[in-house]
Amino acid sequence: MTIHQQDFQEGRSTRAMPIEVPAQRPGPMSRVAVPGAAPAAPRAVPRPVPVPAPARTGHRFMIYKQDPSVTELGARLTFVPTVVLNGPTDARVRTEMQGVTPVARNVNGDFVFPMGSPQFDCAHTFAVVRQAMAMYERHNGGNPIPFAWNVGGNTDRISVFPHAGVGANAFYSRTAKALKFLFFTPEGQPPTTVVHTCRSFDIVAHEMGHALLDGLKPGWLSAAGPPQTGGLHESFGDLTAIFLALAQPDQAEALIALTKANLHDKSFLADVAEEFGRALGMPSGLRNADNDLKLSQVGNEVHAISQVFTGAIYDVLADMCMFEMARQRRTKDPALVLIETASALCRLVFDAIVASPATGARYVDVANKMLQMSSGRGDPAIYRTFIRNRFAVREITTAATPLTDLMSGQMKMTEADYTGDGQDITEVEALDGLSASLRAEQDRSRCCGTMQMPEYQVVDPEKLAKRGSLEDDDILREDLDELRRAFSK
Ligand SMILES: [Zn+2]
Repeated sequence: MTIHQQDFQEGRSTRAMPIEVPAQRPGPMSRVAVPGAAPAAPRAVPRPVPVPAPARTGHRFMIYKQDPSVTELGARLTFVPTVVLNGPTDARVRTEMQGVTPVARNVNGDFVFPMGSPQFDCAHTFAVVRQAMAMYERHNGGNPIPFAWNVGGNTDRISVFPHAGVGANAFYSRTAKALKFLFFTPEGQPPTTVVHTCRSFDIVAHEMGHALLDGLKPGWLSAAGPPQTGGLHESFGDLTAIFLALAQPDQAEALIALTKANLHDKSFLADVAEEFGRALGMPSGLRNADNDLKLSQVGNEVHAISQVFTGAIYDVLADMCMFEMARQRRTKDPALVLIETASALCRLVFDAIVASPATGARYVDVANKMLQMSSGRGDPAIYRTFIRNRFAVREITTAATPLTDLMSGQMKMTEADYTGDGQDITEVEALDGLSASLRAEQDRSRCCGTMQMPEYQVVDPEKLAKRGSLEDDDILREDLDELRRAFSK
């Protein structure tokens, strides 16, 4: 099979919703109904001057902007500017659904299928996984980010299972080299009501965040680390969902319009995993990024600890946006300011995480890297003030500069040089070195499926930190060693 082969995908679903997709070239028959309708023939228009052809091809995918329950956003067409084979499969990601994959591109070379069909779920999940990876690769200087097993020339892909089985969860497994998305019927609902976790943009982005972070910091997933290190993993997943949404111009524009450019207004952005959360009886989604939690309120429960970090970064984002929107109000559209500011902060968080310790990383380590890198890249001093304030208010770090202005609502949000007391400090201390979030065992009971995988609980932390493939026997190592000793007597 060659990559240029245009296979025709039959529509298989009976309860699918019709979608209209514009043809690539405008013309009287330019709207192509999906599935099955004959494609419009492009109208031949003479072009005496040669048209420059794009260097590389790409494909269109239809994805949910958030999830099926966020009806004000719905679904949209997205362009993936890399070669994707039937599957969908490319050099890094493959899709697996029994009886369905490989899903073939349609006659236009696109992965566009009726909403509600298994083919749609494959295409949506692949596209969101790919976009999350592309976002961080851009921040990584355009360089590929290895999966944890991509060592010594290994190029094994990650396998994505959109309908992996029944359950109210989703997870990343290094052993399986896979992302698995489960589906379930919420309690009290008729059996026909099925929530597919793969249909949530947030959940797919969150789980892919775990996979990418495990490639970058293989020593962070082990349950033997301090709760804050586990919190960084959970938070990175949620931040991936938030930053990926804000990397999409239509979502950024919708957010600005829905909230009148106030990021603290209740919105789909801060509510992560809406449909999934509602199905579990949590009206604000699975977790709320725009929260006010402090470290003293969350003990050693890793999911709650993660919300403290996510909340601090979200507040920094809101502060930076307020500053930049005021500064650029006469020169730039607010949606564009939001996209650029979110991208700059995402890059800063990404770089700070990469530069943080390989094991046992604490929130204060990431905060200090953010402060130093922000200074190094020449950001306005007020950016560092935002970072110091937000980490201090959440009891993560000491307040190196007074919080008086912030807490009395007097902060000068538009003064680029504002530091509180004239000092642009780039090194702060952990507020409480004895905090349970640093000292206790990790309680992962309320985390996503990834954090609860046995492989991250029982495999030797040093082995995890080294990168490389894991086998099932690595998980059972202790039992096997014991048996070996017993049987050799
Ligand atoms: Zn997670």
